[in-house]
Amino acid sequence: MDLLELIIEYHKDNERQGPGSEEATLKALGYLPYLNEKIKILDVGCGTGGQTITLAKNTGAQITAVDMFPQFLEMLMKKSKVNNLTNRIVAKEMLMESLTFKESSFDVIWSEGAIYNIGFEKGLSLWRKYLKDNGYIAVSEISWLTDTRPDEIVQYWVNAYPEIDTIENKLSVINKCGYTSVAHFVLDDKCWLDNYYQPILERSEAFMKKYDYTDEVKEFVEAGKIEADMYNRFKDYYSYVFYIAKKPVT
Ligand code: SAM
Repeated sequence: MDLLELIIEYHKDNERQGPGSEEATLKALGYLPYLNEKIKILDVGCGTGGQTITLAKNTGAQITAVDMFPQFLEMLMKKSKVNNLTNRIVAKEMLMESLTFKESSFDVIWSEGAIYNIGFEKGLSLWRKYLKDNGYIAVSEISWLTDTRPDEIVQYWVNAYPEIDTIENKLSVINKCGYTSVAHFVLDDKCWLDNYYQPILERSEAFMKKYDYTDEVKEFVEAGKIEADMYNRFKDYYSYVFYIAKKPVT
């Protein structure tokens, strides 16, 4: 059992693979001007599609949802079938660093808890060409909420994701990458605890048992517990922030 398999097995039965909520998806969607129009949305790093289904149910959009793991896409397709949305959602196995769409294909690019995999600046720069002029991008990204913070949490995040930065600096990156910021808001506790850490931690014991308590599986679960513990102790200093921005006409 390698690490990738553990990641897939640990997360694939969850509604979400990262912090988020239906309310947050809808709040971000509320900043876009075309709720009922037949727009085209690209959902990058869709996971098992928690936000994809919300987007489909609350817009008239055609959605292309991409992820690197076919096991997650299979779960999305099952949900899409149950919700009678198969005519509106297409799931594609694709890497976010090498998307293969035509330029200016989408009205909206959506990405929840996923852009960090290639980095905020790289993702924003690479994906811009797939947006139509006046199109919108909505991404959530780990950000510092305060100007100063304890060393312990700085060390933790600088190791895990060196691109973590303040909201102000993230807004500058958005600008630098050729977008105009429209809005941003901080994801609340429910997004992290009720929807992400709690469901996976509740299944940890059964998960370790399934893999015979090997050192690998114990280490993997322990890393998740440390991450959740960090959040509980230092949540005043960081969170995911949803950034909504527009690609101006060039
Ligand atoms: N958007 C989902 C959510 O909020 O529940 C999933 C978020 S999860 C933290 C990040 C997702 O990005 C995972 O589904 C993972 O498979 C996907 N991912 C990671 N690296 C990727 C890459 N290079 N290309 C495409 N997908 C990737």
